[in-house]
Amino acid sequence: MARSRSGTRGRRGPRKPPRRDGAFAGASVQTVDPRERGAIELPATITVKELADLFGVNPADVIRELIKSGIFATINQLIDRDTAALVAGELGYEVAEPVLTTSGDGTEEGADGAVSEAAKEELFTEVDDANLISRAPIVTVMGHVDHGKTSLLDAIRSTTVAAGERGGITQHIGASEVTKDGRRVVFLDTPGHEAFTAMRARGARVTDIAIVVVAADDGVMPQTLEAISHAKAAKVPIIIALNKMDKPDANPDRVKTELTEAGVVVEEYGGDTPLVPVSAKSRVGLDDLVEMVLLVADLQDLKANPKRSAIGTIVEARMDKSRGPVATALVQTGTLRVGDVIVVGETFGRVRALENELGKRIPKAGPATAAVVLGLSEVPEAGDILRVVADEREARTLVEARRTEVASRGGEGSGRATLEDLYRQIQAGQAKELRIILKTDVSGSLGAITHALGQLATDEVKINVLHEGAGEITDNDILLASASNAIVVGFNTRIGDTARRAAETEKVDVRLYDIIYQLTDDIEKALSGLLEPEQVEVIEGRAEVRQVIKVGKSQVIAGSYVTDGRIVRGGARIWRGGKVIASDRIESLRRFRDDVREVATGFECGIALAGFNDLQEGDVIECFSTQTVSRSLAS
Ligand code: GDP
Repeated sequence: MARSRSGTRGRRGPRKPPRRDGAFAGASVQTVDPRERGAIELPATITVKELADLFGVNPADVIRELIKSGIFATINQLIDRDTAALVAGELGYEVAEPVLTTSGDGTEEGADGAVSEAAKEELFTEVDDANLISRAPIVTVMGHVDHGKTSLLDAIRSTTVAAGERGGITQHIGASEVTKDGRRVVFLDTPGHEAFTAMRARGARVTDIAIVVVAADDGVMPQTLEAISHAKAAKVPIIIALNKMDKPDANPDRVKTELTEAGVVVEEYGGDTPLVPVSAKSRVGLDDLVEMVLLVADLQDLKANPKRSAIGTIVEARMDKSRGPVATALVQTGTLRVGDVIVVGETFGRVRALENELGKRIPKAGPATAAVVLGLSEVPEAGDILRVVADEREARTLVEARRTEVASRGGEGSGRATLEDLYRQIQAGQAKELRIILKTDVSGSLGAITHALGQLATDEVKINVLHEGAGEITDNDILLASASNAIVVGFNTRIGDTARRAAETEKVDVRLYDIIYQLTDDIEKALSGLLEPEQVEVIEGRAEVRQVIKVGKSQVIAGSYVTDGRIVRGGARIWRGGKVIASDRIESLRRFRDDVREVATGFECGIALAGFNDLQEGDVIECFSTQTVSRSLAS
């Protein structure tokens, strides 16, 4: 379908002057003459007042129409396109297909909801097969402090820059490129799982491969374990860079064993995690490491569509005194061009200039390219999603919708999981596992608790311990929980002050226990709340048919005697000679001339069934009700 680049194509009549007076200056709309019954275009979101203006009706009329559909909106409330379309329909207007954003080359995507979680999912899912091409992998380096993350990044970069043909002095822009045999690899320059997970908590999915650096003389340390958990939680493949191999006390075998204990089995030990011995200091193994990255990337078959409008993630941003807000965007798909209108988090602007890491101006940046973007009106945050839109009008609408969304959620972090929310999600079939980050006083209790938790899993709900460790609950645990929709469980441990504050802002559910039984009991109770309640049939009672009375042409009434329990209206089975001959429903139940709700044992009554009318004397009518019981995991 041909889509227009502009959101205003097909509009009729003179435009109203742009509205800059209200809180929502975005959707400049014009009234459509009701006699002009062409299809009208609606923006992704619009306020009730603007919708009324668009139709030239009183806002009260719009509110009335909304109420008819069960939506209670105020005059300044933003409503989405679907809702607006509903009202439009009621008022006799035909609504055009949603305006789609294009990069002018036929690729397209919906213009709305760029900012919601669901939309993010969709945005990163490439559908346009014909235009997909391989793209460079994007790599994050993680590991324990002092194991050599920074040295390794520097060594890889300087090796290639020294050997490379590009020349020039690189500037720090938050990401850097390396070329090997004509193939590019992009490294994110902020090492550590903290930065990685902080971005993920903002909804960004940037990394394709995680290099976990382990010093061969020091082995697996607490932050190594964290890095592994963070990469696994993000489902990002891991390559182990066994660093400091130049040191005389390097002990690769010990590290490999420790890794196995941590659940990372290297290829040499029969697992599927590659390990590359390196030395950042002596510059040994760097080529092998980059080659391994390319190999792992090949297995992932990373693709992007350079022809669509760009989507990327901000990896770094700052205010520059002379140039204004400066942000590095890592373009993930599409091509970002000078002149594009972009929405970034809650801010927007027009790309005034793009620069590469050598500080050179570039006209465009394709998939898996980091570029410095000039032209934003405010400084965005690392992890914010960048998106090209059709024009400023759409940019304003999206930013406004984003702000409303954030405000209505009461802050950025409030979409996070509490145990209660998780129940609901699992109930709704949106979540199939309960994710837990477990911290204990001593590592000895970890095994016992993970085992106890594992026992609580059912066919419906898995328990996934994303990370476990000894020590107090830290901000990293909170970040991981926030990024992964997990809860944090502490056993015989405490939560640090900064972590507590982080938990409050990120709205992460933290639960502290000192008795294992209470911990498992709570989770079990929670899970039984989460499990789909079971529908159980309860036999209410039976009645024997003593007399069959015909009423009208086909209906019969069974004069019956209640032999046990009670007879109520609802489900019924008919028994004859020890067999069920029909399943039906008791439609009416009478004693003498009165309709009654129930008839107890030892009384007579008249029973009319909804469908079955072939009753005979001696038949037994068994009635039952269906009850909902919440299932316990113990059963
Ligand atoms: P980070 O905290 O993980 O970023 O670690 P750094 O890159 O800052 O390195 C920590 C220390 O280890 C520094 O003193 C480095 O010089 C040293 N180092 C890093 N890589 C190597 C290596 O391959 N061999 C040796 N001998 N020292 C290294």
